[in-house]
Amino acid sequence: MSEVGKKRIVILGAGFAGLKLARELKQSDNKIFLIDRHNYHQFQPLMYQVATSRLEPSSISFPLRKVFQHEKNVHVRLATVEGIDTYSKMVYTNNFDIKYDKLIIAIGCTTNYFGNERLKEYAMPMKSVTESMALRNRILLTFEKALYTPEKDLKAMMNFVIVGGGPTGVELAGAIAEMKKFILPKDYPDMDFSNLNIFLIEGTDATLISMSENAQKFSRKYLEELGVIVKTNTLVSDYDGDVVTFQDGGKIETKNVVWAAGVKGNLLDGLKGDYLVRGNRLKVDRFNEIEGLEDVYAIGDIAYMETEKYPRGHPQLANVAINQAKNLAQNIIKGNDNKDKWTPFEYIDKGSMATVGKKRAVVDLPNYKFQGWFAWITWMAVHFWLILSVKNKLVIFINWMMSYFNNDSTLRIILRAKKSKTSDKSMTMKT
Ligand SMILES: Cc1cc2nc3c(=O)[nH]c(=O)nc-3n(C[C@H](O)[C@H](O)[C@H](O)COP(=O)(O)OP(=O)(O)OC[C@H]3O[C@@H](n4cnc5c(N)ncnc54)[C@H](O)[C@@H]3O)c2cc1C
Repeated sequence: MSEVGKKRIVILGAGFAGLKLARELKQSDNKIFLIDRHNYHQFQPLMYQVATSRLEPSSISFPLRKVFQHEKNVHVRLATVEGIDTYSKMVYTNNFDIKYDKLIIAIGCTTNYFGNERLKEYAMPMKSVTESMALRNRILLTFEKALYTPEKDLKAMMNFVIVGGGPTGVELAGAIAEMKKFILPKDYPDMDFSNLNIFLIEGTDATLISMSENAQKFSRKYLEELGVIVKTNTLVSDYDGDVVTFQDGGKIETKNVVWAAGVKGNLLDGLKGDYLVRGNRLKVDRFNEIEGLEDVYAIGDIAYMETEKYPRGHPQLANVAINQAKNLAQNIIKGNDNKDKWTPFEYIDKGSMATVGKKRAVVDLPNYKFQGWFAWITWMAVHFWLILSVKNKLVIFINWMMSYFNNDSTLRIILRAKKSKTSDKSMTMKT
C-alpha cells in the first residue's frame, strides 16, 4: 500500500501496552506514531532494585529508537502529550500537534496521594526510573548524613516508612531490610544499624491483599524474618516531612516515607465524559474502544473494562497491558470494515508473584501456590525473560549472580543532577 493510503495510528505512551502494540503493528499497512515523554521504555517491576542499588537504571530501561531501528513504519516521537480533540481527531503535545485516524491511549498511571497535598510534597514516589534514582540517592544520602547528625535528630532519619503493602511495598521493604542486614554494616563499619527501622504500613488486614492467603501469610512471615515491622489495618492520615500520622492516632518520626499506596490514571485535556471513571481510568468496551468515542482506544493501566470475570475492571498489571495490546493489534489488522470479526478481549490470568528477598518469594499459579526458594527462582526466571534486550538480560544476570554469592553490589553511587547543599554547618562531625 502506498504511504498515501495508509491509516495514521497514533499511540500515546510506550509502556508495556503502547510498546507492545507498536511492535505488533509494525508490519501492518498503517503508519504508526509512538509518542512518549521519555525516549525509553521502563520496566517498572524491577524499579525497586534500582532504588536499592542492585541494578543500574539503564538495565531496566531501553531506548525506543533502538527497538524500531529497522522499522520504517514506526515513527517514534519524544513529546509530552497535553491534550486531544476527538472531534477534529487531533493530539496536542508540548512539541507538535498531530492528526490521527485511530488513537490509542496507553499513558498508564501516576502516584495517587488521594488529594493529600502534604503527602505529595514530602513522601517519595517510585513510579518511574528517575523517581527510583531519587529514592536510591535518598537512601544512600541518609546514611552519609547520619555519620554527622547529632544523636537527637538520628531517630527520624533512621526510620524508613513504606506505605502500601502491595507487591511494590513488599519488595522494596524486603530489599531495604536486606541492605541493612548484608550491605550497610560493611559499608559503614563505624555506624550502628540496630536503630535502623523499616516499617511497612498497609491499610487492609494483610500484605499482598490481591494474592492468595498463602502469599499473604508467607510474605508477612518473610518480611518479619528480615526485621521489617509490618503494620496492617493502619491508614496514613498525614505526613509533614518529620512525622507520619495514622488514622488511629499513632505516629512515627521519620524523614523517609515512600508512598506505594495507590495509582490513578494520567489525565489529558479533552478527556472528560462519562467514560472517565474511578481512579481516572477510561471505560472501554470489550474491544478496548472508549465508550462513546469513535476510533479512540485505551489499553493498559489506564483502561477500565468490565467483564464477567472482572466486574470491577482488570488488575493494573503488565501482563494485562501486554495482552490488551496484542488483542487490539489483531483486531486493528482485521480492519474497521471487519469489525464484526473483531475478537473481544478476555484476560487469562497465568498467575502472580512477588519476592521479599533472597530465597524468599511467593507465587500464585491458577491451581498451585508455592513459596520459598523455588518461588524465588521462578520469580527471577520470569522477570529475566520479560526484560527487553539481550544486553540488559546479561547485565541483570551478572548482577544477580554476584549478589547471590556475595550479598553485595558495586552500584551504590550517588548521582545528582543538580548541585545540592553539601554541608550542614549547624551539625558537628562525630568522629
Ligand atoms: C514499582 C512498580 C512495580 C510493579 N511491579 C509489577 C509486577 O511485578 N508485575 C506486574 O505485572 N506489574 C507490575 N507493575 C504494574 C505494571 O508496571 C503496570 O501495570 C504496567 O506498566 C502498565 O502498562 P501501561 O503501558 O499501561 O503503562 P506504563 O508502563 O506506565 O506506560 C505508560 C507510558 O506512558 C508515558 N506517558 C505517560 N503520560 C504521558 C504523556 N502525557 N505524554 C507522553 N507520554 C506519557 C510514560 O512515560 C510511559 O512510558 C508495577 C508497577 C510499579 C509502579
